[in-house]
Amino acid sequence: MDHPLRALRGVLEHESALYGTYLPLGDPADVPVFAKPETTADTEPPVPVDQEPPAAEAETSSLDQAKPPPPASQEAPADPMANLDLFGQELDPSQDPSRPPWERIHALIPKESPLQGMTTLEEVRDYVNNTVLVPIDEARLNAVMGVGNPNAGLVIIGEAPGADEDRTGEPFTGRAGQLLNKILAAINFERDDIYITNILKSRPPNNRDPVPAEIEAHIPILYKQLALIKPRIILCVGKTAGNSLLGRRSSLGALRDKFHDYYGLPLMVTYHPAALLRNPQWKRPVWEDVKLLRTKYDQLVKG
Ligand code: URA
Repeated sequence: MDHPLRALRGVLEHESALYGTYLPLGDPADVPVFAKPETTADTEPPVPVDQEPPAAEAETSSLDQAKPPPPASQEAPADPMANLDLFGQELDPSQDPSRPPWERIHALIPKESPLQGMTTLEEVRDYVNNTVLVPIDEARLNAVMGVGNPNAGLVIIGEAPGADEDRTGEPFTGRAGQLLNKILAAINFERDDIYITNILKSRPPNNRDPVPAEIEAHIPILYKQLALIKPRIILCVGKTAGNSLLGRRSSLGALRDKFHDYYGLPLMVTYHPAALLRNPQWKRPVWEDVKLLRTKYDQLVKG
């Protein structure tokens, strides 16, 4: 098989013919293949601005995963399997590292949500197709749930459907999707190997940014998808997806180039393919990120 770097060189040459800049990549044999150790430090290099404005690093969000512990109670714990903290209080299951990641992610779904009891992706799809959670759900042509292998080891998460996706009901089918396919091919993944979805399942009008109420309403659907698919690793494309899952408000430059711990799963964030179409100079960092992703995936999935 062709070396992945050669495959990406082909992509870059093709893209540069279409959009401009070509970045010489050097010899594939020089490419380091080991993932960097995870770091928690946000040492941020200067980030090119455009659609990636420098955001305050305030770690405040309604989606912040650091929830306060539940109040002390004299009664028996509601969940007989619940673990207790040092003070005998029931641990929030999402914060309990002894539980599998998918159980922790499932614990993020609001208790009253109908998603709680669902057991298949088809059930979730029917629910989404037939439910208006926020006004954009009424305006859509199609809900865009996700596509790919329901047992995928890798889930890729974008922001929201665009016009093409709204029309077809499938994520990443437009120009950005075609570039995503090429990036995946460069690291030897096909669309059918993985699962691709978005934070929002409905198209925001005129492709505007999702608003917090929309993210809050739709993200439990994604939690349910992750809990059912049980991936080993997650790739977020774009800072909206990364920040929404990590409960942050960081720039893409601060999010990329490392694995975040997402309830026990490694989560990588890289530039959105639509941003790459406008900024070819970001292809090199994307290539660096997806190489790390592939190496980590191979370690986790192939042992
Ligand atoms: N951009 C996204 O984030 N998702 C899509 O499905 C299409 C474009």
